[in-house]
Amino acid sequence: MVGAGINGLSTAWGLARRGFEVAVFDQGAIPNPVSSSFDEHRATRHAYGEMHRYARMMPAAFATYEQMWVDIGRSHYDPVGLVVFQREDDSWINASLADMDEMGIGWREIEVTAVPELYPMIAPEGLTRAVAMEGAGVLFPSRIVTDLVVHLSLKGVAFHANTKIAAIDPETASLTTADGKQHQGDYIVIAAGAWATRLVPELATEATPSRQAVIFVAPPVELATQWQVAPVFFDLGKDSGTYTLPPRPGTRLKIGDHEFTRRGDPDGSRIADDGDVERLMKAASLSYAGFERYSVLERKACFYTVTDDERFIARPIGPKASLLSACSGHGFKLGALMGDLMAKGIAQGEPFVH
Ligand SMILES: Cc1cc2nc3c(=O)[nH]c(=O)nc-3n(C[C@H](O)[C@H](O)[C@H](O)COP(=O)(O)OP(=O)(O)OC[C@H]3O[C@@H](n4cnc5c(N)ncnc54)[C@H](O)[C@@H]3O)c2cc1C
Repeated sequence: MVGAGINGLSTAWGLARRGFEVAVFDQGAIPNPVSSSFDEHRATRHAYGEMHRYARMMPAAFATYEQMWVDIGRSHYDPVGLVVFQREDDSWINASLADMDEMGIGWREIEVTAVPELYPMIAPEGLTRAVAMEGAGVLFPSRIVTDLVVHLSLKGVAFHANTKIAAIDPETASLTTADGKQHQGDYIVIAAGAWATRLVPELATEATPSRQAVIFVAPPVELATQWQVAPVFFDLGKDSGTYTLPPRPGTRLKIGDHEFTRRGDPDGSRIADDGDVERLMKAASLSYAGFERYSVLERKACFYTVTDDERFIARPIGPKASLLSACSGHGFKLGALMGDLMAKGIAQGEPFVH
């Protein structure tokens, strides 16, 4: 396995559960603090707008994490729910609700006039719709990948930290490290996140590394209590577009956006600069009332790969190797499932294709 992020570790988990001998390589520490899978929280949801294919995968994604919680001995999911705010005409909510009705996931309209009372942190100007959605909440990625590593070591998985893979041979399932050492296996899975195009150059025609930014903030004291019990918020506004993870135990309040930069070097600094957060700070000031009174605790840059239609890529790249590049900023919630499907394909001799 090349890559100890959620996709690599979940594939290792799926293989180990099926009795395979597994080795995991990562160019950094395991788990790796600069990977996309190492952060305080990630949103999960059944609501997926026009991306119906992913909405329909979500019941299995939740079920696979439930199985993972059993194996690692605790859940890292907080079902706080999701509230989506609309400020212009937008089909995202209706498209999501159609899938949710089919999947039997609950939701309810919130009167726009009731928002200031219910969610005093929200900027009410220009709001046209608000919907509360069940089947959504917060995952804790750093805790998940850390517990997975501990669990997998109990299952006999071999870890090779600070071991950069320079080349792979998909014909023979052999790996060459940056310092020239060879490792021989039966099958290789490349789950190298934003670095994947370096090991699989042909991927560069479909997926682009993208430098993204998030801000961790402290709210003004008069709103701090409401934030403690807040759900995940999505603001769909063109200029105010943000996603927000509330401060749950062990985490801070985090705001990000889904504007892909499609630029940057994954080996670059993880400290976000003024340019990285310019759009996000403006959007947050349109999403949240009195945002100027929030304190910025950290500006963090992070990387992932982006495909034009945000679809994941999973396919064989030779008789003895597969690629798992599942991201576009929405892959964590589906990581356990994608990894388990990859492992199942290897076990059945029918490589998983997505
Ligand atoms: C800011 C941000 C917010 C996000 N929000 C959400 C969200 O709310 N919900 C959601 O579902 N998803 C979200 N995502 C997406 C999600 O985090 C990613 O899809 C997921 O973490 C990708 O996991 P991965 O295992 O593919 O990659 P990574 O976690 O990046 O792991 C890849 C690993 O491969 C290693 N590697 C790379 N090249 C080599 C090499 N040559 N040799 C050895 N090791 C190598 C790297 O060191 C790294 O550790 C977000 C991502 C970001 C960045």
